[in-house]
Amino acid sequence: MPELPEVESVRRGLLDWVEAATVTGVRVLDSRILGTTSQRRIPPEAVDIFAEAVAGRTLAAPQRRGKFLWVPFAGTPAALTLHLGMSGQLRIHTAEEPHHRHTRAVLELESRSGAVQLRFIDQRIFGHIGVDDLIPDGPDAVPASSAHIARDPLDPHWDLEVTARRIQRSTSALKTVLMDQTVVSGIGNIYADEALFRARVHPQAVPARTRISRLRAVLEAARAVMEAALVQGGTSFDSLYVHVNGDSGYFDRSLTVYGRTGQPCLVCGTPIRRLVVGGRGTHVCPTCQRRR
Ligand SMILES: [Zn+2]
Repeated sequence: MPELPEVESVRRGLLDWVEAATVTGVRVLDSRILGTTSQRRIPPEAVDIFAEAVAGRTLAAPQRRGKFLWVPFAGTPAALTLHLGMSGQLRIHTAEEPHHRHTRAVLELESRSGAVQLRFIDQRIFGHIGVDDLIPDGPDAVPASSAHIARDPLDPHWDLEVTARRIQRSTSALKTVLMDQTVVSGIGNIYADEALFRARVHPQAVPARTRISRLRAVLEAARAVMEAALVQGGTSFDSLYVHVNGDSGYFDRSLTVYGRTGQPCLVCGTPIRRLVVGGRGTHVCPTCQRRR
């Protein structure tokens, strides 16, 4: 499943191909890709509505908040929205290249580098593609459907201090709050565990009873670990994941706690323990991350 650094690397990979490109054709091969996880029944006219909304548009630079990607249309407050879900991939191909069998939608683009196809490939169809209005949000604009998504730690306008204070109002387990997309977006299961381990804070710590300096440290660790993963090209345990050009994603071998159940802690040697927090498998060093 793509995590925030992979989605950001996909956004960067798309930039050269889609910015200033014009959509010259739209083909939806499987209409289920137009749904969202909350709305899976696709009315028959949806394909035509989507194609009409996208065809002929000129695209601006792709944007992202958390794992939500969108490509604004030039000259109008609307955007093509893209979410990779569990197994979605965006790939740039020439028309002659064979289609992957899980290709769900194809946009024909007249890009600065010539005619290419942007293909949305998704085996399990938890991802989606659509069109949405953009609404103003502080210094930028976001799709209306993503307006409730908080800024993520890789966003230059993210405010760590405001986020730490908001987290401190909660009485839920800290890890659960870190993964609440309305508080801070883009921290998935892997990076929540990594950030808590780096900051030496227990995932079940209660934010309302935790010092603000420790909450700040967790958020700083989340940003640092995701920036490091981005430099390495993203982390993924899903072999389906590929970059926008079709190359395989890199595996990040520098995870320090996630997936290391029973192995010695890299700091103190205590075996890493697996817990379940908020229904999610959670990896913790019982010595470094004591409950207070
Ligand atoms: Zn330890």
